Amino acid sequence: MKKAIYYRYLALVATAVLICAAVAFGIFSTTSISDKQQHMLSLLRVMETTFTDTDDLMQATQLSALTDGARVTIVSSDGVVIDDSEHSKDAMENHLQRKEIAQAIKTGSGMDIRESGTLGRKQIYVAYRMSDGNVIRMSYDTEGAENYAGQIIPAIVVAVLLGMIVSFLIVSGLTQRIRKPLTELRNALSVMKNGGFSAQVVECEFEEINDLIYAFNAMGGDIRQSVAQLENERTKVDFILESMEEGLVLIDGRLEIIHANHAAKQFFSCDFEVQSKNILYLVHNSRVYDAIERGAQEHLSSLFDIELSGRTLQIHITPLQSEFLGEGDRASGAIMVVTDTTGERASQRMRQEFFSNASHELKTPITSVSGFAELLQSGLADPEHEKEYIARIRGEAKRMSALIEDILKISRLESGADANQSVYTQVELKGLCEEISENLLPQAAQADISLSVSGEDCALLADRRHMHELCANLIENAVKYNKPQGRVEVILEEDAMRKQVRLTVKDTGIGIPLAHQNRIFERFYRVDKGRSTKVGSTGLGLSIVKHIVGVYGGEISLMSRENMGTTIVITLPIERSFDQ
Ligand code: ADP
Repeated sequence: MKKAIYYRYLALVATAVLICAAVAFGIFSTTSISDKQQHMLSLLRVMETTFTDTDDLMQATQLSALTDGARVTIVSSDGVVIDDSEHSKDAMENHLQRKEIAQAIKTGSGMDIRESGTLGRKQIYVAYRMSDGNVIRMSYDTEGAENYAGQIIPAIVVAVLLGMIVSFLIVSGLTQRIRKPLTELRNALSVMKNGGFSAQVVECEFEEINDLIYAFNAMGGDIRQSVAQLENERTKVDFILESMEEGLVLIDGRLEIIHANHAAKQFFSCDFEVQSKNILYLVHNSRVYDAIERGAQEHLSSLFDIELSGRTLQIHITPLQSEFLGEGDRASGAIMVVTDTTGERASQRMRQEFFSNASHELKTPITSVSGFAELLQSGLADPEHEKEYIARIRGEAKRMSALIEDILKISRLESGADANQSVYTQVELKGLCEEISENLLPQAAQADISLSVSGEDCALLADRRHMHELCANLIENAVKYNKPQGRVEVILEEDAMRKQVRLTVKDTGIGIPLAHQNRIFERFYRVDKGRSTKVGSTGLGLSIVKHIVGVYGGEISLMSRENMGTTIVITLPIERSFDQ
């Protein structure tokens, strides 16, 4: 740029100086010729006054000597050459047609510049009509005047050179000043190209360049803002993808991984970067690999479960078609979502088991009820036994109703529906246990079992229904699975240090064989089905107890010896937040 400016500027200066010189030269030549003509005319006038008589007029040659070598011609009023300082008058033609002569005859003086027919050179002619009517003409070579003008050419050359030197210095300083901000802009642009979006350029003295600088700085600000926004968006997307519990893998048509989030890598036990690598780096399960291949290349979606490292994973593969994935065969791909359904499947299994157990439990009393009802309806029943059959039907109906009630209770507790209805108050456990024991007295008396409630007045923040359910189930079991003349002791203690209450239900009953002790809290689990049927059990009581204790963040411990008795201890926090 610097060179281009120099060359153009110097060419401009040279052209300007040359034009000026040409114009000056023209004006100077014209002026010098005109001055010469005036000078010649004055000379002629002087001659006329000096030599009044034409006859006295000196020979033209003499006149020529007087006039510094000028050619002098004397012409009569009819154009005949009377004398000439350089040529023989006889050889000269009539001069009446010469412009300067014709003008002088007519107006008194005349001038012309032309090539002399006689001399063959360019001449300045000045003619003057004298008082006797003859015309005296003087002529000079124009060369003198033109040479005079030509003397200024060296001065012009010097001026051009000086002008160029001065302009070189000026241009040099100017380009330096213009180049500085432009260089800064160029440097800032290359910084920006390498990601330095905060690059700014300081304004300079040139308004036009400043416009560029302002635009650049504003553009830098816009880019910074856009980059920050994009980074923010990317962080947000990354955060979402990496915080997801579900594994997410994006695969292109060549089965190369575009993105695999943290959860996906964890599910497939992969601890290295898999981006841009084949899916085989991540997935080693042939079923999943085949499904991805079908999804990414044949556009088939799949949904299935696999068992991996002791977990049940649900694999959902959806085919994708987008230019975002890549060009050509990469443009089709698939997205795989991996969900850990271990818990869900387990609870599904539990629900299935629960329903099949519940239906199984209900089947026996229903069969029994319908059998006795049919017998009674057929009229074949012995009238003596009719009452007994009816009592059996009632008993089975009671069992069914107790069973359904327990099923409802446990399903309410598990579904959380119960939590919505819970009312938390200070529940005093000793009073509650005494109340329950009193209600059980007739049943206990039948088997000659003694019941006692002792200990402190333990109060805790709880739903009274839950506490009633918990205590009633334990005390009822202690009575139900007791032996004649047995004992049931209910003891309540408060551990102020640990902010806990402890409920101990101790019996001297049949006890629970060691092999069953782990399972009695399972739903529908009963140690002795025959006895249970007799005492009207559902096998759900202890699972309800376990659930309630779990809701309150308490603990259960069991000590039992066959034929010796059972002790169940429940500890519950006095105060806690109930997140069910
Ligand atoms: P059920 O309605 O059968 O009592 P539970 O869940 O309360 O159901 O008890 C499950 C099983 O545990 C009972 O069937 C019984 O065999 C045993 N069991 C519970 N409590 C006692 C106890 N105090 N003494 C002996 N066995 C018991």
